[in-house]
Amino acid sequence: MRYYQLLLPTLREEPAEAEVESHKLMLRAGMIRKVAAGIYTFLPLGVRVMHKVERIIREEMNRAGAQEVLMSCVLPADLWKESGRWEQYGRELLRIKDRHEREYCLGPTHEEMITDIARREIRSYRQLPVNLYQIQTKFRDEVRPRFGVMRAREFIMKDAYSFDADEEGAQKSYWQMFDAYAMIFRRSGLRFRAVEADTGLIGGSFSHEFMVLADTGEDVVASCGECDYAANLERAEVGRVVEEADEEIKGLERVDTPAQKSVEEVTEFLNVSPQRLVKTIIFDTGKEVIAALVRGDHEINESKLRRHLGALQMQMAGDELIADVTHAPKGFAGPVGLDLKIIADYALEGMRNFVTGANEPDTHLINVNLERDFQVDEFTDIRLAKEGDPCPRCPGRLQMFRGIAVGQIFRLGTKYSEAMGATYLDPQGREKPLIMGCYGIGVGRTVAAAIEQNHDENGIIFPISIAPFHVLILPVNNKDAQIMRAAEDIYTLLQEKGVEVLLDDRDERPGVKFKDADLIGIPLRLTVGEKNLKKGKVEMKIRRSGEVVLVELEGVPEVAMRMISEQLGDGVSVS
Ligand code: ATP
Ligand code: MG
Repeated sequence: MRYYQLLLPTLREEPAEAEVESHKLMLRAGMIRKVAAGIYTFLPLGVRVMHKVERIIREEMNRAGAQEVLMSCVLPADLWKESGRWEQYGRELLRIKDRHEREYCLGPTHEEMITDIARREIRSYRQLPVNLYQIQTKFRDEVRPRFGVMRAREFIMKDAYSFDADEEGAQKSYWQMFDAYAMIFRRSGLRFRAVEADTGLIGGSFSHEFMVLADTGEDVVASCGECDYAANLERAEVGRVVEEADEEIKGLERVDTPAQKSVEEVTEFLNVSPQRLVKTIIFDTGKEVIAALVRGDHEINESKLRRHLGALQMQMAGDELIADVTHAPKGFAGPVGLDLKIIADYALEGMRNFVTGANEPDTHLINVNLERDFQVDEFTDIRLAKEGDPCPRCPGRLQMFRGIAVGQIFRLGTKYSEAMGATYLDPQGREKPLIMGCYGIGVGRTVAAAIEQNHDENGIIFPISIAPFHVLILPVNNKDAQIMRAAEDIYTLLQEKGVEVLLDDRDERPGVKFKDADLIGIPLRLTVGEKNLKKGKVEMKIRRSGEVVLVELEGVPEVAMRMISEQLGDGVSVS
């Protein structure tokens, strides 16, 4: 490709709208342009990179036995009503009507659609297992679209769905996808980790997320320093350690705490540490109202609590509901005398003589004790894990790091097949529900995550497997016929070998060309300049290491090919 024919509008200035490096660099390198909040156009350079990632995905999905399909992005509401998600999905689902007033949505994910295909097309166990995938545009009306294509509203996703006859087969499909994902992200040049994840709105029983390690990641991962336990913070368990407090049980007392509501206020006012306070938080699932108890210095993990309750939705109670069930304003709720189901975090098990709200305005209780003063219905793990907490699997401690979730795999079981009647006939002719799994990768997010991990102050440093070009040829002076001839020769030679080359044939100052070269991050740069050319040489620079070598003109294709193959790794061809 010739630069002057390419629409590659690089920007010198830092774009003010961008908060993270990958977003800034994708704008500056002319890869993307914003259309509206969370909606982007990909320009040629961006498309080339997206295609590289898509190609890796296709190769690995096909290798794992999955077959590519292409479903519509406009989905009939009826399918979503069958699964119940038309009501559950909330405002992320963009609902539309056609001229006949029929309802549709723009597909945010395709479980309903694929289950509909399966119930029509799969009849017998002989057709199983099947794994179908697509690479297609999704729409989710995200509350806070940000970080460019990392959290967009319109974005390209690879989504795959597996169908199996039995649990054993479903497990095999799941782990096949796990391996394929590891391969995809490895080949894309990412440093990642697979962690246990929450199943959220997709539902299902079991899930892993593939996390690219990056300080700007929106997700937090808890991982054990000693064993291989790692989980998204939403899901991360905390080891159960019961420490029986060695103190005598004292008499319950009521104390005035005028306008003291928060943990800080109350503990300061009463001169006790937050570890001696128990927070009472009221939640409403739509089906029941419950009280959750956690220690004063701990935070509640709503995902874990919601999962424990088996609730689809759950909200912290508003002021009115709090007043209704506790007879006191917010900030004074407590378990003593409270007529609600009480769920307490494990950390409360050994506590003695603690402080709680009194369910009366401006009042707290001190020396509250389990059993004597109130009953806990269920003890369980409902707190947010934090740095240094005990690991749930071994005596180790948890560490926290940030990551970008680029892919997630789920075991769905029969959630959708049962709701929508997708069955098959087993060898005995019995009708059984299909067992499903679903598997997503954000293509744009993968590109952004790769840039987040691979850049320096001058620009992007593309891993060669997803680079828009392998080699950039940079003739320093367009007016010099000799330089241009040499550059053109190398360009032709490399192209013949299947190398993807960009020839910077613009009539620009060398400084501009060098700056753009660093910004767009092509792995190998060949500089053709007068001085070296006189010696029959060109300069080869490796973008990542900054290493510079002089190469004989005739040797260029061989050296370039070798470097590309080395960086691409074994078994991956150049063209
Ligand atoms: P998140 O927790 O980040 O919102 P999710 O759990 O909603 O992600 P999935 O439904 O599992 O995501 O989607 C599969 C993949 O699609 C994600 O791992 C991610 O790479 C990508 N993805 C999801 N939402 C977005 C988005 N708004 N913009 C870009 N990519 C996205
Ligand atoms: Mg989401």
